[in-house]
Parts: sequence; structure tokens; C-alpha cells
Amino acid sequence: MPRKILITGASIAGNCAAWWLAEYGFDVVVVEKAPLFRSGGQNVDVRGAGHEVIRRMGLENEVKARNTGERGSVWVDEDNQVIAEFDAEDLGDDGPTAELEILRGDLASLLYEPARSRATFRFGDYITGITQTSDAITVTFAESEPETFDIVIVAEGVGSSTRELVFPGENHPRWMDITMAYYTMPKGETDTDMGRWYNATGGRGILLRPGPDGQTHAFLTAQAKPKGEESLGVNEQKAWMYERFRDAEWEASRALEGMMIAEDFYFDVLRQVKMERWANGRVVLLGDAAWCATPLAGIGTTLALTGAYVLAGELSRSESPTAAFAAYDALMRPFVEQGQGVPKFAPKLLNPRSRLGLATLRGVMRVLGLPGIREAASALLTGKTKDIDLPNYRATSTS
Ligand SMILES: Cc1cc2nc3c(=O)[nH]c(=O)nc-3n(C[C@H](O)[C@H](O)[C@H](O)COP(=O)(O)OP(=O)(O)OC[C@H]3O[C@@H](n4cnc5c(N)ncnc54)[C@H](O)[C@@H]3O)c2cc1C
Repeated sequence: MPRKILITGASIAGNCAAWWLAEYGFDVVVVEKAPLFRSGGQNVDVRGAGHEVIRRMGLENEVKARNTGERGSVWVDEDNQVIAEFDAEDLGDDGPTAELEILRGDLASLLYEPARSRATFRFGDYITGITQTSDAITVTFAESEPETFDIVIVAEGVGSSTRELVFPGENHPRWMDITMAYYTMPKGETDTDMGRWYNATGGRGILLRPGPDGQTHAFLTAQAKPKGEESLGVNEQKAWMYERFRDAEWEASRALEGMMIAEDFYFDVLRQVKMERWANGRVVLLGDAAWCATPLAGIGTTLALTGAYVLAGELSRSESPTAAFAAYDALMRPFVEQGQGVPKFAPKLLNPRSRLGLATLRGVMRVLGLPGIREAASALLTGKTKDIDLPNYRATSTS
């Protein structure tokens, strides 16, 4: 198997793949468009197979040590009265709060630190062109000289430009009609160790979650048909969200104040990436660039970790990139399809538009939060998927 690999994108998927590929003896270069390592982001869940990948990397204790400290989730009304409560201890990995809850930036750093000592990282650069022959790829970059690799792994997230370069027109995105903003804000008197979820009419939701940093991590969700807002500048995106939430009740005005001053504001018009193939010659897609499931599925980080582990492992034991990519596809696709299976009506049910819809949701939540029922209900709230059996590639690697 050829040994020189380029990874584009130094986030969850890219760093995890770099670590495992270096573990198997590959020569790895990672190119990241941002000028510096991106350490931002809010609470993400690591579940099932993703948890196992972290364990096999020897990072489980460090991830647990940076746990957000969230004890569970409550749904509240305008007066902050609890409608339903889901305690993480009762539900384990199946509830809205996973056993491994960590800030995205903390997880990315925990993966980046050991990866950077094993691979070469270049920040502030990106691919401008790719030429493939049957046994090599020549890549041109915006900032550095052209270079030849054996394999290119594209881990650039949902809006990947290299995906569009190598697989033009092949992504048929599934727009979820939901826009989300994530940011950190100062902790307030009402913030506790529970994630607090409030729904307003008009398909709006506010979720305030604790973090290990003593701050509050905010998520605003707005139902809206996409109109290209993902391409707006940060100030315009903040203004867009502000308009949607300015008349909402509960702690909306505090959340908006926090948003306007937030420096780690992250905004996304949710869409799933749908690709019939993930490999073209010697180029392969990984993580959100290949299959973004959106945060509604609660499984994006788990899929990114699992995909990175499987791709690196298959490359370590296959005789050709084609064989490795076929095995990666066969193992990951059913897992991804389940993860993407969140029905489009589910976010609409959880973010009702009318007063009647809101009253109905709250009535349902009251029932779902009852002991005995909440265990079954948690699968509905998290979009739980079946796990995959992770092969032990260390035993079969040819390196
Ligand atoms: C700064 C940031 C904050 C986030 N915050 C949250 C959050 O709060 N909640 C949540 O659920 N998810 C968040 N996400 C998304 C989450 O990390 C992913 O959904 C998931 O973990 C899958 O990770 P990924 O590595 O496939 O993609 P991503 O995490 O999206 O990473 C893609 C990486 O590729 C880089 N990149 C993009 N284009 C190029 C290019 N052309 N060349 C080179 N590099 C490129 C990006 O800068 C980024 O570092 C965030 C992502 C980022 C980058």
C-alpha cells in the first residue's frame, strides 16, 4: 500500500485519521484552511463506536476529565418551570445527554495534540487543483508548492470545496429547513448543571447548556427555508438570528445579548450531505464532507471518529486504495444511513410554529418525562442508531 497521504481539514475527522494513519506508519501531511487551529464550538456527544475509538486511542480519561458536567436535560416553559426532565445517570449513552459530553474545541484539541507530533500540519493553506494518474495524485495549493501524494483524504466539513472540485454535482444535499447558531456566553443565575431547553412559537428553540469552563453554551434553533444564509458574514448572521428571536420570551433577551458579543459564534444552515460514492480514484471523503448528518441527529462527531478509524484501518490492511475505500464504504454506509435517518418532520415536531402546536409538544413532553416512559422516549430525542462492530486493525495491519 502506498504510504504518503494528504488530509485536508484539521478538525475531528482529520485529526483522528492523522493519528491512526501515523500509528500504522503512513507519512501524513494535514492542510487546514484556517490560519490557526480552530478550537471553538459547543457541546458535542460521543456515543457508542465513537466512544470505543476514543478508548482505543487511550484518550478516554482525558475526554472524561473535560466532560461538560451536564447532568441531564430539562424542558422549561416561559417561567422556567420544568415540563420534563431527563437525567443522564438514568439513561446512560441513550439520553439527550451522552456519557461523553465534551466541547467540540476540547475534543478537537485532544485529538490534535497527539496528532501534531506524528504528522506534518500546515495552516492557512488549501487545495486549488488535483490531477490524478493511476498511481499518484498531484496537488496544487493556494500557498505552497505543488506536491505528489498517494492518497488524498478530504475532511473539510459540510461545505467542502475539494469535494466540489473532485465530485462536481454529486452531492444532493437534504436541506432540513433549520438554521442554528452556537456560541458561549457568561453564566447566569438561572443556569444549572442541567441543559435547559425552551421552545417558543414560530419554530424557535433555545438551549442553554453548562460547560467545564464555568460558562454557558447557547444553541438557537430557527425553522426557516434556506436562502443562502450560510454564505453571509458573521455580523449579518447574528442580525438574522436576532430578528428571529427578538420577541421570544423566557431568557431570549439574555441569550441575544450574549450572542451579540460572542467571539466564538458558529452558524449553520442545516443540510445533510448525500453522496452515492465517497471515493473517486485516490481521493476519498471523510466526516461531514462525506455524510454530514446535521446536529439534529446527535451523531456527527461519533460518525467522524468512527469513519476516521475505519478508513485508516482499512488503508493499513488493504492491498490497494480501491480495496480499502470499498471496505470503508461497506462498513460505514449502513451506519451513516441510519444516522442520517432523522425524519424531516422530527425537528418540526420539536420546534412547533403555533400556540396549539407548542401546547401539544409540552403535553407530550410531560408524558415522555415520566419514569418508565422516558427510557423509550430518549431514542426519539437523540435519534439513536445501532452501533457497528469495530474491527481490530492493529491485529491485521500490514505495517
Ligand atoms: C469551529 C467549529 C465549530 C463547530 N461547532 C460545533 C458545535 O458547536 N456543535 C456541533 O454540533 N458541531 C460543531 N461543529 C461541527 C462539528 O465539528 C462536525 O459536525 C463534526 O464533528 C464532524 O467533523 P468534521 O471533522 O468532519 O468536520 P468539521 O468539524 O466541520 O471540520 C472541517 C475542517 O476543515 C477545515 N476546512 C474547510 N474547508 C477547507 C479547505 N478547503 N481546505 C482545508 N481545510 C478546510 C475547516 O476549517 C475545519 O477545521 C463545528 C465545527 C467547527 C470547524
